[in-house]
Amino acid sequence: METKKYHILTLGCQMNKSDSERVDSVLSGLGWTSVDTEDEAALVVVNSCAVRQSAMDRIFGRFKIWNKRRAKGELKVLLTGCVLDQDKKRMMPHVDWFLPIKDLSTLPALLGYPELDLGEYFEVKPNYNNTFSAFVPIMTGCDKFCTFCAVPYTRGREISRPYTQILKEIEQLVRNGCREITLLGQNVNSYVGAPDRTVSDREVRGVGKIIMNLRRRVAGHGGEGQAHRPAPTPVALQGTIDFPQLLQKIADIPGDFWIRFLTSHPYDMSDELVEVMAGNPKICKQLNLPVQSGDDEILKKMNRHYTVEYYLERVRKIRERLPNIALSTDIIVGFCGESDRAFGKTAEVFRAANYDMAFLSEYSTRPGTAAAKLFADDVSGEVKTKRKEELNEILKSQAFSYNQRFMGRTIRVLVDKSEQKGELFLNSGRNEEAKPIQFLAGRDYTGQFVDVEVTKTGAWNLEGILSKFD
Ligand code: SF4
Repeated sequence: METKKYHILTLGCQMNKSDSERVDSVLSGLGWTSVDTEDEAALVVVNSCAVRQSAMDRIFGRFKIWNKRRAKGELKVLLTGCVLDQDKKRMMPHVDWFLPIKDLSTLPALLGYPELDLGEYFEVKPNYNNTFSAFVPIMTGCDKFCTFCAVPYTRGREISRPYTQILKEIEQLVRNGCREITLLGQNVNSYVGAPDRTVSDREVRGVGKIIMNLRRRVAGHGGEGQAHRPAPTPVALQGTIDFPQLLQKIADIPGDFWIRFLTSHPYDMSDELVEVMAGNPKICKQLNLPVQSGDDEILKKMNRHYTVEYYLERVRKIRERLPNIALSTDIIVGFCGESDRAFGKTAEVFRAANYDMAFLSEYSTRPGTAAAKLFADDVSGEVKTKRKEELNEILKSQAFSYNQRFMGRTIRVLVDKSEQKGELFLNSGRNEEAKPIQFLAGRDYTGQFVDVEVTKTGAWNLEGILSKFD
């Protein structure tokens, strides 16, 4: 390959975006140049997402064009990210290599370079997308096995990153002026970290889970899978810390920065985590707590490990300690067997939890998942769309009413982009609660904290005037 240009096509969640920053770092470290369009590239890296069928369709849609260039020796295609086995089998004839992201350090050898000692995946230093806001993965994989989800099969079981490594990365970022750290993982709140080595959830919880289930039985709550109260985080290994302890250590790092995290599983949403959030101004008062359904039967079929009662009790606890928190959720409508009644319960939970943001999706079968094998996708597309629209209407009204609290107030905003409009600049950013806000100013404030007085509120965004800046 003469022209050493590469293009990374990233599909899916923030975790994939973060992985792409690491792939980018390895390739640029080899002297390759990143290009914005795949037509210019001699190497296309596909960072794939197995969660949505639409992502797969998008990749398959590119193969014809790529194959023409591959046949002429102009292009190589490398596949990585979340890929189910059966998708991999179908894709392999159209790509040159498949690289599990955990084996990222072998990428140079794959491209014909001598082996480099890059360390394990977490040790590869990312090329951050910008200097003021960074994703920091703290764990990867998932042990929850929700029946609709492909992640445990594509990313494997949970592995927690050593906490000394996480703290070092964040200290460096903050020293370099980073203003916002987003901790990433499929289940950040089941993090169990050792100081200097990766820890698998299985390893730590083998003993811990037995103790936890015994405690529940004694308390009359049943075993795992029927959780009705917050699960204590078992720490069976000497010197390990859990997620609230990690958050506290990060909040103790000196500097002016915000901390966010995603995603949290309700099963692991402990009282300790709520207390750490309440006690630290650096931790943004924003939480995504995916409920997925408001019906116990559906939750059981989804293998979500909690009941509606347990979930709403967690919400009550969170709101008691963090009354102004911005609470969002994920919901799948039209999961297998979801009746009108079951959906009605989801709408009830939606109102009871009073979400101000939600990521709503219509269920679609992903081959290879447990749900695809066990249940029929028996809710029509029309009904799914109607249910999604119904939740969207509730959301609109709840989001509007939540945002009204900001009217007339001066709020702190981290500006993430700015666009020149004649003499002025239209700056856009988010506040602590992650609400988008725009304001006009005499210059570009990208990457800075500023104080903005809110002059207009809507369901999805705010407007204001610059009041003070740092
Ligand atoms: S918790 Fe469930 S939905 Fe989330 S990554 Fe794990 S299996 Fe998938």
